Amino acid sequence: MSQAVLERRVHVPLGERAYDVVIGPGLLAQAGERILPLLKRPRVAVLSDETVAALHLDTLRAGLAAAGIEMEALALPPGEATKGWPQFTRAVEWLLETRVERNDVVIAFGGGVIGDLAGFAAAVLRRGVRFVQIPTSLLAQVDSSVGGKTGINAPQGKNLIGAFHQPSLVLADTEVLGTLTQRDFLAGYGEVAKYGLLGDAEFFSWLETHGPSLAGGDMAARVEAVTRSVQMKADIVARDETEQGDRALLNLGHTFCHALEAATGYSDRLLHGEGVAIGCALAFELSYRLGLVSQEEPSRVREHLAAMGMKKDLADIPGDLPDADALLDLMGQDKKVVDGQLRFILARCIGDAFVTADVPPEAVRDLLNEALSARNQNS
Ligand code: NAD
Repeated sequence: MSQAVLERRVHVPLGERAYDVVIGPGLLAQAGERILPLLKRPRVAVLSDETVAALHLDTLRAGLAAAGIEMEALALPPGEATKGWPQFTRAVEWLLETRVERNDVVIAFGGGVIGDLAGFAAAVLRRGVRFVQIPTSLLAQVDSSVGGKTGINAPQGKNLIGAFHQPSLVLADTEVLGTLTQRDFLAGYGEVAKYGLLGDAEFFSWLETHGPSLAGGDMAARVEAVTRSVQMKADIVARDETEQGDRALLNLGHTFCHALEAATGYSDRLLHGEGVAIGCALAFELSYRLGLVSQEEPSRVREHLAAMGMKKDLADIPGDLPDADALLDLMGQDKKVVDGQLRFILARCIGDAFVTADVPPEAVRDLLNEALSARNQNS
């Protein structure tokens, strides 16, 4: 199939902050003609990470040059540790040294780490410049590049410093996903599965059928999965841009995930998307225990994750984990805690999630205790 046939577009309708997400293979080579209409002068500053830059910066440079656009680039070290004050300061000062002006456009070229950091840099540089997201990881294409949440981590916790700043355009080139490691690809798939689980049962069934070929490199399936995920995120963000209500649904699995990420020291023992997948499986198990869904639903979630070769329960996390009380305590640090009460995203069935503060802590403790003892039996 030709590249043009595969190209899709999702509009994010946010009034004067509205923008398009363009999805398809080969967009890097066309980046210049896509971005040129946004520019007052043919020059952009690109923030990237060293891994992505080594693999794809030349293609982006050529794509921009084809439309007469010059670019300067700064590549930061890859990894979550980059998303803090030191590299943020370095990036902002570089943008100033590069003489990025108020009307210029900054490009975020990388995974969610670069997208969040560069978006926040654009939000504060000269009190706000526009930026374009060119997400290169599956997670960034289906989630972090859309919706305008930008920021960095603090020593006190993840994503605690930031701003809402919507991009002016998102170019999701599905061809660049080909250079991701299988592990990073599948971590991003955790977020894709999350969309089906939280709001679209038909999409989850589609993933059960097409997930393996999608992971194997089927480009049409990749474009379809990214498009449907982005469409769902765009719909939710349009309803609730600053997370006063519905947007919290996107956090399905995240209360568990954030506690597990903290317990594993934000290390490569557990990637964010892996934690989301395990968290989704736990959220469905909790929904079953609270009498909300039938027993088949959590089994179906775990079966799909297993079929994809993904982590699906606590037993799949290497190394030690703290006990259930310590995990509950870590959940209490979650951003979703309101007036000291934990909020969970639970489900009525696959494709129908809702937010609730009405979860007895004993039910969560029992669930974690059993998951931890199953893990100990396996080891
Ligand atoms: P990441 O940016 O660290 O990328 C993961 C790894 O993949 C990195 O090593 C990176 O160098 C590499 N990589 C990226 N693209 C590649 C490519 N095409 N080929 C080869 N390697 C490539 O992490 P991520 O998983 O993309 O994103 C996680 C971050 O996103 C977290 O910081 C999380 O908090 C944030 N996030 C933000 C939002 C939001 O709404 N802003 C939503 C979800 C997650």
